[in-house]
This record gives sequence, C-alpha cells and structure tokens, in this order.
Amino acid sequence: MGRLRRSRTHHARRDVHRGSRTRVRTRDLDQIQLIDLDPKNRAALEAQPLDFEAPGLAQHYCVECAKHYETDVALRSHWRSKVHRRRMKDLKVPAYTIEESERAAGLGRDTRRAVAPIA
Ligand SMILES: [Zn+2]
Repeated sequence: MGRLRRSRTHHARRDVHRGSRTRVRTRDLDQIQLIDLDPKNRAALEAQPLDFEAPGLAQHYCVECAKHYETDVALRSHWRSKVHRRRMKDLKVPAYTIEESERAAGLGRDTRRAVAPIA
C-alpha cells in the first residue's frame, strides 16, 4: 500500500521542520569552547548591557548553554538541571578544529623525520 495522502497544509514546502530547528538554534559547542569560555569573553557575556529583545533583558545568561533566562532564580535552577550538566560534560570533550581535520586529511605539518629507506 502506498503512502496515504496528507492534508494540504504544507503546500510545496518540503522541509517543514526547518523553521523550528533554526528558531531554537544557539551557538555551537566549538564556538562556546574556543570563544565564549575565554575568561575575558565570559565576563563580557555575563555582564551584558540591557537588551529589550532578549529574555530577562539579557541579564541572566548561561555561557555554557548560550541561553538567556528570565530571572536569577531561573538561571540558578538551570545550573542545577540535567540539561546544563549534560552540556558541561559535552564541553569537556576538546573541540574539533580545522587543524585536526587537516591532520586527518594528511595536510597538516608532519614534524616527524622521514624514515631512511632500507637498502
Ligand atoms: Zn547552562
């Protein structure tokens, strides 16, 4: 039996989930690890100026999760949550860098000396 016909709500839109995916998208783990967790950048992120667009006027920000919270209480309870702890664990894994990908492709600097050919 073939696929049953759906209703006509998604007219000609093949990827109907993209909107919800991009709406909740935050910074990637390597961006957080290499840029945001730098102490200088971290201080700037934790003391952001008042932003009327962001939740809680951008005053309660979790750097690890790249997420704003409405109140200090919400941020503190987030720090104790499973989501945040899982994120901390994910951030412990070293980020995948361009250098690593080049090494994997054999393009990086190879500092080993060439093995002498067997005569
Ligand atoms: Zn968090």
